[in-house]
Amino acid sequence: MFENNFTKQLVLIGGGHANIQVLRKLCMNNLKGLHTILISEHFEATYSGMTPGYIHKDFSKEEISMDLQRLCFNAGATFIRDKVVKIETNYQKLELQNLPSIHYDLLSINTGSISNTRGIKIENSSRCFFVKPISLLVKNLSEIDQIIKYKKNKIAIIGGGIASYELAFSLSRRYENNLEITILGKNILKEKNLNEKTKKYIKKISNYLGIKEIQGEVVSISEKFLTLKNGVIFECDLSLVSSGADIETWLSNSSLNKDKNGFIAVNDNLLSTNNESVFITGDACSLENNFRPKSGVMAVRQGEVLKENIFYKLTGRPLIKFRPQKNWLYLVGTYKNYALLNYFFLSFHGRWCWKLKEWIDRRFINKFKFSSGKSMTKKNFDLEESKNIKMYCQGCGSKASKYTLVNFLKAENSNTELSDASIIDINTSSLLQSIDHIKLFTSLNPFDFGVISYLHSQNDILSSGGSVQTISVSQALPFSEGIIEKFYMDYFMKGIKSESIKDDSVIVSGHSYQSKEPGITITMNGVFEKKISKNQAQENDLIYLSKPLGTGYLLAAYFNNSELLSSIDFQNLIEWLRKGNSKASEISKSFKSNITTDISGFGLASHLSDICKSSKLSAEIKLNKEILINKNIEILKTFKSTGFDNNYSSSINDILISDNNKLKNILYDPQTNGPLLFSINKKNQIEFEKKFLLKLGFSPIPLGKFKKPEDKLINVVD
Ligand SMILES: Cc1cc2nc3c(=O)[nH]c(=O)nc-3n(C[C@H](O)[C@H](O)[C@H](O)COP(=O)(O)OP(=O)(O)OC[C@H]3O[C@@H](n4cnc5c(N)ncnc54)[C@H](O)[C@@H]3O)c2cc1C
Repeated sequence: MFENNFTKQLVLIGGGHANIQVLRKLCMNNLKGLHTILISEHFEATYSGMTPGYIHKDFSKEEISMDLQRLCFNAGATFIRDKVVKIETNYQKLELQNLPSIHYDLLSINTGSISNTRGIKIENSSRCFFVKPISLLVKNLSEIDQIIKYKKNKIAIIGGGIASYELAFSLSRRYENNLEITILGKNILKEKNLNEKTKKYIKKISNYLGIKEIQGEVVSISEKFLTLKNGVIFECDLSLVSSGADIETWLSNSSLNKDKNGFIAVNDNLLSTNNESVFITGDACSLENNFRPKSGVMAVRQGEVLKENIFYKLTGRPLIKFRPQKNWLYLVGTYKNYALLNYFFLSFHGRWCWKLKEWIDRRFINKFKFSSGKSMTKKNFDLEESKNIKMYCQGCGSKASKYTLVNFLKAENSNTELSDASIIDINTSSLLQSIDHIKLFTSLNPFDFGVISYLHSQNDILSSGGSVQTISVSQALPFSEGIIEKFYMDYFMKGIKSESIKDDSVIVSGHSYQSKEPGITITMNGVFEKKISKNQAQENDLIYLSKPLGTGYLLAAYFNNSELLSSIDFQNLIEWLRKGNSKASEISKSFKSNITTDISGFGLASHLSDICKSSKLSAEIKLNKEILINKNIEILKTFKSTGFDNNYSSSINDILISDNNKLKNILYDPQTNGPLLFSINKKNQIEFEKKFLLKLGFSPIPLGKFKKPEDKLINVVD
């Protein structure tokens, strides 16, 4: 990914049905010079066509979801999990809920819609759920399950469209006979493309399932009832709002033109009608002079044009037109393995319709699943302006631009005159100093990477018994220009700063340069009350880890597209990578731990054997699944990080371990921001474990104890 010199930034907002197709195209094609970012609220995208099937338990959550981080990894894009809250089209700038703002050269908005609640007063006490965005409905399902579990409930579905009926069918199957469903709509089944025979089928199926319908406009929702415009009161336990679509305020407040219903108006190239740098697709947009109901099918069709138009626009070719169909195929799930098909005047209800639906849906979603070891071969294309290839210096000329640096420092209000060195006032005669470097991995949010590199470096200071005072940062940014260079500098530095603030440590100096191997080097200075050395381990002291291991092989598995590691597993891995060790270090110090070290790239075996060697002791340890971030041993057996072999060969002679030990590979797995290993006197065991759990919210991991020296430095017992 970082082979390119990035000159243009494409930002995709929302992992909707259209933007994911742009990413898929980028999995197969490399636009040299293009830097792509996807910003989406969730790690996964939900495929709408299979959601009713998920509700009635035909499909699992994994089957209906697409892993956006992995899609970005394969596309060579960066994934940012956050919500866009403002768009300033004048500055081509996006504001995010939690992370620094991002600029774009070209933008594609595919953020779907929210439920339309205009004209409905919703009281806080009401048990009301929105069906849009569809990902929210999927998330809320477990809460609805809890409500329905205890008694027969009366559910109201507000809105009389085909989506409400499909939802009613799937809910009635999910909860069997434990609920009474009524559909309330101002208009009932008024979709133009539904033929009369289909409408009859729908009514017949509804009757059979005991689903009632009431024609009328709901104007308010309270805890126990709904009020209709004609004054009728309808009693219900919970309601689902499926009354049409709306867009969020950040989008409606933007300067992009809207249609009469408030959706963003686009021309037939899917570009905003007043902004040539912004594409909008899916539920959020409305085609000028060509109204069509909102649906996932429409968003998918638009995606087919969007992915081409983004390439055409970036390579300076004429754009193609989106020509919406007047009529399209409806396939609605009804009973188990049954679906209803509607196309022009044709209407069928049967098993084969379900088979057809399942085939179409699976064919679509499988395009976004990746299999282990397989990566797509990419064709290369040039951006319009990057046909004049620049030569990049490898010496001093590879620095980041002064403009980016000065602007960053100005915004941060620090070292604006670019002084060459900083003065550090110290009131101690001894300083701890360490240096560490890690490389950025493709698709990882550079802010998270900044956090992780700080914590990775901090471990060196913590393991010597100190606390961080000052840091110097050298950042290798990808070869890039303007807003892309700024993006990396902002995200790297703000990630680092978010952690240095917690330590009250100061960034005193820095250097930034451009490289094909982006990464961060941090030099840290620390002070200490009592220096901890590796030769102080005591016989019978207990050995603990501050958190589990496994970052090396899990990252290897993820970036090999292994099916063994799901999107949730990856999120869990990132959570551990973002967890620092300073609280654990404080606790171990308060229990007068004699030994602390951090498990780094050399792995557990190397660090523990160094301590044993220096302290002239052996360690007896036991490996169990608690030591692993991910408890699936199959992944540990199958994947190895690149540093594994070196770690193995440098430590194997110091270890006694049975060949059958299923966890043996974890001893040599290189760790990024790994745990601290420390010793605790046995008499403090209970008190220590209690305090650790209280302060950190999870338990320390007991590994074993130090013993009199034996043949081998580490003895792994079964
Ligand atoms: C119950 C139900 C069943 C349905 N069944 C079908 C069906 O069978 N077939 C069909 O064609 N349609 C169906 N639909 C309609 C369909 O769900 C929507 O039309 C479709 O999801 C819209 O797709 P989209 O690509 O515009 O956006 P979405 O698929 O909704 O994706 C939007 C993405 O943007 C992200 N996002 C939103 N806001 C932000 C933000 N501010 N910043 C960052 N990210 C953001 C979201 O997290 C999400 O990942 C159904 C709808 C419902 C409610």
